[in-house]
Amino acid sequence: MTVLIAGAGIAGLSLGLTLHQLGIPFRIYERVGEIRPLGVGINIQPNAVRELYDLGLEARLDAIGVRTRQYGFYTKTGREIWAEPRGQFAGYSWPQYSIHRGQLQMMLLEVLQARAGADCVVTGAAVAGFETAARTASLIMADGGRIDGDLVIAADGIRSAIRHQMQPDEGEPIWNGAIMWRGTSLGRPFLGGAAMILAGHDTQRFVAYPISATDPETGLAEINWIAELRVDPGRAMSKGDWNKPANKADFLPAFTDWTFDWIDCPGLIRASGPVYEYPMVDREPMERWTDGRVTLMGDAAHATYPVGSNGASQAIIDARKLGAALRAHGVTREALQAYETEMRPRAEGILRANRGAGPDAVMQMVEDRCGGVFNDIEDVIPRAELAAHAEKYKRLSGFSIEVLNAQPAILGPIEPVLA
Ligand SMILES: Cc1cc2nc3c(=O)[nH]c(=O)nc-3n(C[C@H](O)[C@H](O)[C@H](O)COP(=O)(O)OP(=O)(O)OC[C@H]3O[C@@H](n4cnc5c(N)ncnc54)[C@H](O)[C@@H]3O)c2cc1C
Repeated sequence: MTVLIAGAGIAGLSLGLTLHQLGIPFRIYERVGEIRPLGVGINIQPNAVRELYDLGLEARLDAIGVRTRQYGFYTKTGREIWAEPRGQFAGYSWPQYSIHRGQLQMMLLEVLQARAGADCVVTGAAVAGFETAARTASLIMADGGRIDGDLVIAADGIRSAIRHQMQPDEGEPIWNGAIMWRGTSLGRPFLGGAAMILAGHDTQRFVAYPISATDPETGLAEINWIAELRVDPGRAMSKGDWNKPANKADFLPAFTDWTFDWIDCPGLIRASGPVYEYPMVDREPMERWTDGRVTLMGDAAHATYPVGSNGASQAIIDARKLGAALRAHGVTREALQAYETEMRPRAEGILRANRGAGPDAVMQMVEDRCGGVFNDIEDVIPRAELAAHAEKYKRLSGFSIEVLNAQPAILGPIEPVLA
């Protein structure tokens, strides 16, 4: 009775930890030969943090992440449109974390291997496809090998080989013409620290938040930033490669005036180490994720624009919901179907919201209505409307405060002895 998982990203590793908690045998097959801490900053929302806490990871998260205190939208000249407290500062029972993606991945890997044994993750093992039969499911490996198990779960990201087999005509991820240049720099925390900001509008914006504690001696923290511009959508781009190095000269000139009295955007860009570029891509929603004894999760199932700070959280929730379905229905195709029935409509809603009226849509509204110039934001968009807009996205994504705090745990905590 073995669950075969393709991919050791946030989705695959969270599923491994969940299956270990449930005592269900599994093995993860990861394409890269050595898992390294790649990527820059991401956010984990309280609904997903709750699940990581139930996996006994609270102290580990505190060691590598920042408990996010505030989140806000600003104009291209740094005027506040909307700011709100986050995580426990907003009344959730769990925090939001801003964290380095690679450090989170390495932490999940280390804990999983300590609990389930080093051989639960096989590296240098690229999956090429799958087979599903009445009682078995198999991974077909790129080297021609074949591994048999009971179920196959595709957690192999936006360029999933398993999804490709299910939808061979799908083609490349869909690009909306925006490029995100990403980096991290040592800088002075802004707006009281642990604040995440988005400034600008649809054609040009800057996102920043600290992903380390402030050094008491230097007063500096590691600040994650994203500089985003719309470019000619006809331009050739490699789509879905999170690790493509970029040149600051390609985007810094557009941000040279973006020095506000509370943050120096060009200064952060200049101070950074390596910079990576990623086109804003997603995929059309699928009509089904499950084929017999095989299903999709994480970005393989629902790659969305990373605008709601929600992609990794969705991957973690998928893992827990899959675990709950396996506990309820056994290691069966019915479990996969039950998981899909619950999660696919929700994922599709988030994907569509991120294309249009995501939480950040208010930035373009302000630009359209007054070019970002106002005395009182109330004259542009009433605060009640801004609050309703923010709440709508949280409900859609499953992290509305009242709903989440009152909701029973998906699986509940692991036995303390395993923590
Ligand atoms: C290197 C990297 C850097 C990233 N950096 C950022 C970032 O800075 N900001 C951000 O918002 N998001 C980033 N992401 C995406 C983010 O991690 C995901 O959107 C989210 O966490 C959902 O995770 P996932 O596990 O579904 O997908 P991913 O995190 O993409 O993980 C997929 C895993 O599957 C492996 N894999 C792929 N194909 C195969 C195959 N054929 N066989 C076996 N294994 C395979 C990959 O190597 C990877 O380990 C990054 C992803 C990667 C892979």
